[in-house]
Amino acid sequence: MRLTVRCAAASHVGMIRDTNQDRSIIVGDLVAVADGMGGHVGGEMAAELAVAQIAKAAEMAEPDGKVTADTLFELIKAANMSVVEKAEAPELNGMGTTLVAATLDSEAGNVLLANVGDSRAYLYSVGAFRQLTHDHSLVNELVREGRITEEESRTHPQRNILTRALGMSPDLAIDQFEIRVYGGDKLLLCSDGLTNEVDDPAIAAILARFSDPADAAETLVEKALEGGGRDNITVALMFVDGGEGEQLPLLNLDDIEGSDPGEPTEAHAPVFVSGDDTSEGPPIAEPAEMVIEKPPVRSRIRSALTALAVVAVLAFAYFVTESYAKDAWFADDVNGEVVILQGRPDGFLWVNPEESEATDIEVAELDGASLERLKSQPEWNSLDDARQFVSNLTTADETGS
Ligand code: MG
Repeated sequence: MRLTVRCAAASHVGMIRDTNQDRSIIVGDLVAVADGMGGHVGGEMAAELAVAQIAKAAEMAEPDGKVTADTLFELIKAANMSVVEKAEAPELNGMGTTLVAATLDSEAGNVLLANVGDSRAYLYSVGAFRQLTHDHSLVNELVREGRITEEESRTHPQRNILTRALGMSPDLAIDQFEIRVYGGDKLLLCSDGLTNEVDDPAIAAILARFSDPADAAETLVEKALEGGGRDNITVALMFVDGGEGEQLPLLNLDDIEGSDPGEPTEAHAPVFVSGDDTSEGPPIAEPAEMVIEKPPVRSRIRSALTALAVVAVLAFAYFVTESYAKDAWFADDVNGEVVILQGRPDGFLWVNPEESEATDIEVAELDGASLERLKSQPEWNSLDDARQFVSNLTTADETGS
């Protein structure tokens, strides 16, 4: 018996925000969650654009409804481009969205996952519950580097900063991987509005309790609202059925509550998939560590534009440097005479001061105060100001000392 899935989703604006910038979509055996960001309108639009692209999975699927890794990759690339293009409008600048998607490959008995951002995918299986995706967020980088703890990351002031999202750049690295699933397994996709309010054991307990994904989805959202509902909350569930003879028994609810999320089981050891190559790689123990980043796909036009932009930036930097370096005048002792020079007294980068005009004042004739003023090398914004400064220098004769 082939595997089948039952999917359901639920979403709530939460207790504080006035718009829901999360979106979810179910297309056949594919589910996805997007969490938009960037302004009142932008976030909602970015998430909407992303799921609108994912909706095209229906047309791009194989005759049997299967969405291949390549198709999923293409859909996410297209979703990214549609957000990038819209974000060029000044009022939408900075908008972006997370996207996490899962689709069943019934024949292979696998679920294919793709992720960008900090929305998450979890697997509940035989009583064990674990995160499958790796957050593309600043706090997760800090946790991985051992600079903050998992606990500290939950309240860190920069916890909303993403290192990857749709809409940031045309070159998008997408984590894609597949995981073996069995009848009874339950996949959860969610925005951070769930995971910031409900801890792992509580989520696992709800997944254990319900056999209907719609009931479980509603209950998860309610639990997040009870927890405070400080963000939009969205969950999408994929419950796996079938796989004759492979149905794995669920553990009793008592075995889960209050316990840590379980370790990956051998049966679920994931294999990597890239967008172009679906050959199996070696199983790796920790799914969050085994994600494969797609090399950026960059067209020749884009490379040329980038090169042009670099040249323009360098030319501008050169112009600014030269302008700054030469936009000053000062007086100095040149071979015993007071001379007005253009430039900065010690030079600036590659630009050295140059003689602007000579005066007939001998440095040796200056009185003490004037000599001090000359040595302090004040800078003037114009040649006239520098001339004025020089004309105010007095000689020992003039002061009568
Ligand atoms: Mg959120």
